[in-house]
Amino acid sequence: MPFPQRPPSRLPLSPPQLVGTELDSLRATLEAGWLAPAGPAPAAFEEAVAALTGFAGAVATSSGTAALHLAYRVLGVQPGDEVWAPCMTFVATVAPAVQMGAVPRFLDVTERGWTLDPDLLAEELSRAARRGRLPRVVVPVDLYGQCCDLAAIHAACGRWGVPVLCDSAAAMGAEGREGRHAGRGARLAVFSFNGNKIVTAGGGGMLVGDDPALLARARQLAGQAKEPAAHYEHETTGYTYGMSSVLAAVGLAQLPALPARVARRREVFATYAAALGALPGISFIAEPGWGRANRWLTVAQVAPAAFGADREAVRRALEAAGIESRPAWKPLHLQPAFRDAPQAGGAVAAALFERGLCLPSGSGMSPAEQARVIDILRGCGRG
Ligand SMILES: *Cc1c(COP(=O)(O)O)cnc(C)c1O
Repeated sequence: MPFPQRPPSRLPLSPPQLVGTELDSLRATLEAGWLAPAGPAPAAFEEAVAALTGFAGAVATSSGTAALHLAYRVLGVQPGDEVWAPCMTFVATVAPAVQMGAVPRFLDVTERGWTLDPDLLAEELSRAARRGRLPRVVVPVDLYGQCCDLAAIHAACGRWGVPVLCDSAAAMGAEGREGRHAGRGARLAVFSFNGNKIVTAGGGGMLVGDDPALLARARQLAGQAKEPAAHYEHETTGYTYGMSSVLAAVGLAQLPALPARVARRREVFATYAAALGALPGISFIAEPGWGRANRWLTVAQVAPAAFGADREAVRRALEAAGIESRPAWKPLHLQPAFRDAPQAGGAVAAALFERGLCLPSGSGMSPAEQARVIDILRGCGRG
């Protein structure tokens, strides 16, 4: 039975784009008999991602959130432990830890690059050490595909022996200092292949790291924590978190397109910045002076007094024209779900939320579609 086609009338924020080889990859996997159990495709996808990102190993998972959950488990997060994250992120960064009974503490981001403030982190860690309550893990985020300052974060955490788990879910193809791939330098890092990310498997994630023992433990937990025995033997409980062959086949087909996808998303960003960046009251996230963002999403900052309209007015004008845009992440310290969580700062993130609007950034967006977004945005301002 044929499915109806997705209506093309609306311009989405970040729709998936096909490479064109997905069907061949799927057909090869299915015809070789690997619908189930998981066959060679997930292992090949793991190897490809490890090679591309420079990590020693990888565990393919059913989602990025599942990979985060496995990371929290293998890093030994216990009920009552603190888990520190920037307040400016997606809820999935901390959700699994909170579900495990951990207490999140939210730290502010820098105005420059919108990622975890390493100086604030160092101060807060010293204070926590004096309190005798260091976090179990610090979880910086590569926001919208822009790398956090992992070297500085690592240095601050290293002083106290606190491991770093990098949420690089949206940062496939992004580079940090010295051209190292997003996440490199962290004990563990996580990528997502959700449908809205820069390359996708239709859904899925990856846990990467350099310690084979940690990854082996994560892999075991992802497969219901089975001990080596003919019968089912369990010393603890796990999950069904492995990636299916079907998703891995799609992911394998998408991966070679990553460099072109990064180039295209950066071009989309550059086009917005050139067309709108000089308008009074409009600005964009700067690259921090090192690294190379994948520009997963372009985020415009709308200063209402200077521009003549606030970000909600702009969002509504775009929506009326069938164009999806979305406010920047609402900071987690402002979320009702975390009203009791301790925090350090948060004013920078709160201002970014007030003014930040994610614009359509898909790699398949046509120049004509982007020109329409730009025209509507221009029309909202005074000029
Ligand atoms: C997409 C995303 C996730 C979650 O990944 P899923 O594969 O959707 O579970 C986590 N953190 C950030 C920053 C993300 O952008």
